Amino acid sequence: MNPRFLMRIFERTDLKTKLRLAKVITKLGSGDELVKCMLCPNMCVFSCPVFDAERRLTVSPSVKSRIAYFDGEEAVYHCLPCDACKENCKMEISVNENLRRFRNGKYAEKIDAWLSKIPRNFEEKEGKILYFPGCRTFEADLFKPTCEYLEKIGIDFAVSNLICCGMPYYEIGDKRAKEHFSKLKKIASKYDGVISNCPHCVLVMRDLGIKAEHLIKFLQPKKIGGIISYHDPCIMARKLNLVEEPRKFLNACGFEILEPAFTGRQTSCCGYGGVYRILYPENAEIVAERRRKQFEAEIITACPACKIALKGKDLVELLLEVV
Ligand code: SF4
Ligand code: SF4
Repeated sequence: MNPRFLMRIFERTDLKTKLRLAKVITKLGSGDELVKCMLCPNMCVFSCPVFDAERRLTVSPSVKSRIAYFDGEEAVYHCLPCDACKENCKMEISVNENLRRFRNGKYAEKIDAWLSKIPRNFEEKEGKILYFPGCRTFEADLFKPTCEYLEKIGIDFAVSNLICCGMPYYEIGDKRAKEHFSKLKKIASKYDGVISNCPHCVLVMRDLGIKAEHLIKFLQPKKIGGIISYHDPCIMARKLNLVEEPRKFLNACGFEILEPAFTGRQTSCCGYGGVYRILYPENAEIVAERRRKQFEAEIITACPACKIALKGKDLVELLLEVV
């Protein structure tokens, strides 16, 4: 942060504000992006699904950044990691990335309770590639169909007993994320690569240096035909750059795709991303319901959380319906 800029702010503020600024001054050097966002007139507010659902400025992108500096309380958790803000920001600032370091793990017990409900009634097995479903794949009833499909196409895959990639703990700033990350790295190092249904798990693994691919890379099209709509999961479109692949796959299956409002990188979040729906389920449901109304045909997607939120179907389920 430019010291002259800081001096100018100091000169023009009253004593109370000076004292507040003094508290946060040490954070300014590492937080230029956050400072820029704080000073922005909320240019991306129209794109933020959390603001749209909750209708209060406190949880809008720029105001959350300000709150993070001056308070750091509840509002910093009211964020999906959807990055619609970044997509619509001239400076390409990700509000969620900036807010994460102001979270202090205060909701870790809620995450524990949520994870403890995930059924673990499956057997580990060995193979060349690790199939890492991720917690939400179990919840979306996609684990068994995916195993069935991978077997059908002859992939030699392993399954481990690790269910969570650590994302929920990472998002709320809890130290347990590190334990999950190191377990995941250790397990993944035994295999040639990792396949996952969950775009968020793929992103986490890639950030950890693990060779991970989304399941879509392994799906083989079959002639089915019909009219459907495709929902782009935020992380898949914006962070994994998988926008064309699902459409090519669906076209190869003979589907006509009715695009909803907001597609591709300009997709609109389903509300079940990150931990927002674990912490604020009623608000997440408002986001999901708004998104569901934007479709005119059956919703097909490629993320277990989006499948649950939008009451849709996963790509792999389409393939298994065909005899
Ligand atoms: S993310 Fe960008 S556009 Fe949105 S409020 Fe922050 S600086 Fe402004
Ligand atoms: S990541 Fe999504 S929910 Fe969070 S501020 Fe940006 S647009 Fe809003």
